[in-house]
Amino acid sequence: MSDQPTIDEQACIAQGDCVETASAVFALEDRAVVLGSGPDELLLAAAKGCPVQAITLVDPDTGEQVYP
Ligand code: SF4
Repeated sequence: MSDQPTIDEQACIAQGDCVETASAVFALEDRAVVLGSGPDELLLAAAKGCPVQAITLVDPDTGEQVYP
């Protein structure tokens, strides 16, 4: 099962890099919101590309935090 992304709304500065990287997973409202999930590599690229590390990835099978 794909990693589950969550966004720290307090940290997000709404500049949209995650939406550009993974538009099926993230959307921009007042802050970025999670629409669903996607391939782990894409989620990791989006999370790593976030300038304020607002994106957390958790493996739903193990409960382990994958990133950061
Ligand atoms: S990349 Fe990070 S700061 Fe930018 S919109 Fe996405 S969650 Fe917010």
